[in-house]
This record gives sequence, structure tokens and C-alpha cells, in this order.
Amino acid sequence: MMAVLQLMLYMCVAGSITALPVDDDVVMVGDDSNAIEDSDVIDLSGLGPEAFTFPKNESGDALATWTESSLMNPEEMSFYGEGDILIPTYGRNAVRDQTSRWPNGHIPYLIDGSFNQNQRDNIMKAIADYHRLTCLRFIPYNGQRDYIVFKSANTGCWSSVGRLGGRQEVNLQTPGCVSKKGTVLHEILHAVGFIHEQSRPERDDFVKINYNNIRSGSEGNFKKSDSKRVADLGIPYDYNSVMHYSEYAFSKNSKKTIEPKTGGMKVGQREGLSRGDVKKVNAMYNCKKEEPQTGWVGSVWQSIFG
Ligand SMILES: [Zn+2]
Repeated sequence: MMAVLQLMLYMCVAGSITALPVDDDVVMVGDDSNAIEDSDVIDLSGLGPEAFTFPKNESGDALATWTESSLMNPEEMSFYGEGDILIPTYGRNAVRDQTSRWPNGHIPYLIDGSFNQNQRDNIMKAIADYHRLTCLRFIPYNGQRDYIVFKSANTGCWSSVGRLGGRQEVNLQTPGCVSKKGTVLHEILHAVGFIHEQSRPERDDFVKINYNNIRSGSEGNFKKSDSKRVADLGIPYDYNSVMHYSEYAFSKNSKKTIEPKTGGMKVGQREGLSRGDVKKVNAMYNCKKEEPQTGWVGSVWQSIFG
């Protein structure tokens, strides 16, 4: 009985969070307690060549087959680096394997895709979550040099990692990439500077990768990062991360490609930022913001489905 009451309480809390106001896109900054250090380099040399290419319609075609009942998350259906990481080259010769953090955590943004009201709301809810839980500030584009543009081209769900310099795209093909707030949170977290949770060097201690079930040609998506290159920022491995692949990611046979080694754990949730996600962002951006005690952070997902 207690467990049921607890569950209902959790669901109420979660419900109140999905009902966040969506006009939270402009936040005044200037509170020194939330000050963030200057930008730092993000090393991308561990990403394979698939990450340094250009947007492709074949990824869009694959995503077009996705439905709400699909076993995989929509961003797991693209063919870029680790699935959905793309540093578009657009004919540039130089492959850049370094990007950087956003100075002061300020990220100018522009919504320039064909999104309906509901899809636009999901983007704004994702931004509101970052404003509520982290020191990042998404600022409506007003001529800044470096900024992100939310597009909706038929090239899948994808983003670059960190700040490229100049204009950079976060592509959210409709309806797949904007049907859940969590997918938007995921792609934004790439742009903020993070790669996937199961790419962490110590992931084999936490999950088993079933290579026999991985679609041919997608094995590279399950590479581990070089421990020297990845800053885990002192945050433990996080099954709840919105950056963790689902259990069926890149499966060729509807069997699991990823299995948590800890019993009862689930991976691949796209409901909201986990407590670990929030801690990582705030560690990377030197944010002193206090951890909230409620919401889709931490144990909620596991409480319901674990
Ligand atoms: Zn991703």
C-alpha cells in the first residue's frame, strides 16, 4: 500500500513538471551565485568518421518508419556518429575534433523548422527544464556570433557536440524527434557538450552489450570512449540518463542489444533529465545551483518501471 501511495505521489510530481509553463525562454541572468566559468575545450577525437559527414536523407527515411510503439528511441535510428552525433562538414576539408563549451552557459537559439504548436511546446518545455534545473540559459537569437538553430529537415534526429562556432543545427525531424520532450532534451545535451552514457569507459561494469543482436554496420555505435578523453565529472554511471541508449538500440532482430548488469534497472528513458544529467551539466558549467528534490530527476523512472 505504501508503495502504491508513493508511486501516486511520484506521478503527481511528474505530472506537475510536465505542466511547466512554456514561456520560460527568457531568463534574466546576472545572479553571481549562478556564475559559470569561461568556455573549455571538448575533445571529439574519439568520435568515428561517421560523425564528420553531412545530413543524409537515408537517416530521415529510417526515422519515418518510427512510431510511438517502436522498441527504439527515434534518435537511435540515424546513421551518424554513435547514431545521432553529426558535425556537418558541408564540403569543408578540415575535420574538426575539438569544440568547446558555451561561454557562461549562454546558448542563443532560433527555432527555424516546421513545427506544429505541440512540437514547439515540447522544445520550449525542454528549454524550461534546463532553465529550472541548471545554470544554462537559452537566449532567443539576436545576432550573436555562435548559436543553435532547431531545424526539422528529413535527416533524422541529430546534433553536434558542444559549441562549433558560428551557426550550428539541432535537427528534429517531425514527428519522431519532437513527439517526446526527452528526445529534445537528449539532442540539446549533445549541443551542450555531452556524448552518450553507455560510451563511458567503464560501461562494461554496468551493461552487457549483445553484439550478436546489433544491426550489421552499427557496431561502431557501441564503442567506448577513451578514458583519457572523457571527463566523467565525478558523476557515477547513470542508468537513468536521458543520454543512455535504450535496450533495443540498433537491434537487427528485436532482441536486446544492451542489458543492465544490475537487476531491475531500465535504460533509455526519454521522460526527463535524470539527477545525474543535471549534476553533469552543472559540473561542466561550474554551476552552484542547488539540486531540486522533486521531479524527473533520479529515482522516479526506476520507481515506476524498475
Ligand atoms: Zn544521442
